Amino acid sequence: MAELAMSIALRTDFGLLIDGKLEPSDEQLDVINPALGEVFARCPAATRAHLERAVTAARAAFPAWRDKSFSERAALIKKMSQKLRENQQELAELLTREQGKPLAQSIAEIDRGAAQSDGMVGIEIPVEVLADDKDKHIELRYRPLGVVGIITPWNAPVSLALGPLVSALYTGNTVILKPSPYTPLSTLKLGELLREIFPAGVVNVLAGGDALGVWITEHPKVDKISFTGSVATGKKVLASAAATLKRVTLELGGNDPAIVMDDVDPKAVAQKIFFASFVNSGQVCMAIKRIYAHEKIYAALCDALVAEAKKAKVGNGLDPATELGPIQNKMQYDKVVGIIEDTKKRGAKFLTGGDIPKGPGYFLPPTLVTDVPEDSRLVQEEQFGPIVPIMKFSSLDDALERANDTRYGLSGSVWTSDVTRGAEIAAKLEVGTAWVNQHRATSAFVPFGGAKESGLGRQYSALGLKSYMEPEVVSVAK
Ligand code: NAD
Repeated sequence: MAELAMSIALRTDFGLLIDGKLEPSDEQLDVINPALGEVFARCPAATRAHLERAVTAARAAFPAWRDKSFSERAALIKKMSQKLRENQQELAELLTREQGKPLAQSIAEIDRGAAQSDGMVGIEIPVEVLADDKDKHIELRYRPLGVVGIITPWNAPVSLALGPLVSALYTGNTVILKPSPYTPLSTLKLGELLREIFPAGVVNVLAGGDALGVWITEHPKVDKISFTGSVATGKKVLASAAATLKRVTLELGGNDPAIVMDDVDPKAVAQKIFFASFVNSGQVCMAIKRIYAHEKIYAALCDALVAEAKKAKVGNGLDPATELGPIQNKMQYDKVVGIIEDTKKRGAKFLTGGDIPKGPGYFLPPTLVTDVPEDSRLVQEEQFGPIVPIMKFSSLDDALERANDTRYGLSGSVWTSDVTRGAEIAAKLEVGTAWVNQHRATSAFVPFGGAKESGLGRQYSALGLKSYMEPEVVSVAK
């Protein structure tokens, strides 16, 4: 491991991006490599004074940026995607070191972010004519809001920054971007790259702890918050934003069900279901977190999933053989270990995993369990780690009721060889996105977001872009 960690000479001396300049801070954040459980870098943490300067810069840059056309802004965003691709290797290595995911998946995250960015700037937000006759002309226009505060989590720091960032910038807003204190480096590096493309003040990047997030959500001169993170924090963000009635988009946690029908070939679907459950070691908002399998294929599906789990190589993300990296931080690791212990106490059967490996690093193997009580923590909570329950059903109504019996509603999927029936069943899931024979499929022109406590509003697509704008009616009496 130590050898691997030494094999790449990586710059980690980043600054905060404020008004086009890179700034240091007297306050610092330690950044831990989760594969080793050791601090490998430090970076500046923004103070309130940094935030004030960033907000002032973002406000000052707003009028000129707002007045550019969509196509002018799109051209700079495309340059940004190009720059991301040119710097992909360095950015990916940084991401793997701080986040833990396998290097190939870090590269894929950057690719996905760049592709989504290019896709989003192809979407038009035209003026809508609501009425036009001899007496009147009524238009619905959309104008930028002003300064958008973007707050991101640690599981996919690059792609989860790029979605809201491009939405805000393309629609004419300026930005303050704050990454998670656990994964600040790839976002600070992103800031360095953006500095070469966008006018000063249009994008400001501030690393910092949770308090910085609070200051951003409270700030009277920030017009919108785009938050991606946990349900608990999302509620605090909404409460804080209410004081100034900021616009808010919340992309929160999930407890996604997958309903596997009796007409599937278990071996054929197992690989896809396994990947959708365990990629990034289960640390994905829209990972499959509960599997409901029809009794007819239940045993065969369990066997096929166990075979996938046994094949998956867990290790340091810098090792090219690694498929599943560590849990990203100690707090989350302790939470998942707590869920494993609780699941044992509840009498569940562990098909794989269950023993906690000795360190270093926050590693846990892919863990599949059956015979789990529906009211256990594993079924009720968002585990956000590599442990997934497989539960049996005999009637579809029962499966749907159990799948929907949760405060979460991010996404879900139905697996069947009858795609027409699959779509009908999927529509009954109380979620923002219901997939058939796939999971985790998103794109720039398709809205994504949560139902129930999984969020508020949508990201991506014209629907998502419009949430970074204020609708304004212009009504003319002729
Ligand atoms: P978190 O809520 O702990 O933190 C997210 C961000 O909020 C961090 O930058 C943090 O510093 C900041 N923050 C913390 N307290 C704050 C406050 N009071 N006010 C403002 N900002 C504050 O979430 P996390 O543990 O970093 O991320 C994991 C969670 O994110 C999971 O629940 C996961 O499902 C969710 N998530 C959702 C999506 C989605 O698109 N729906 C995507 C990825 C992750």
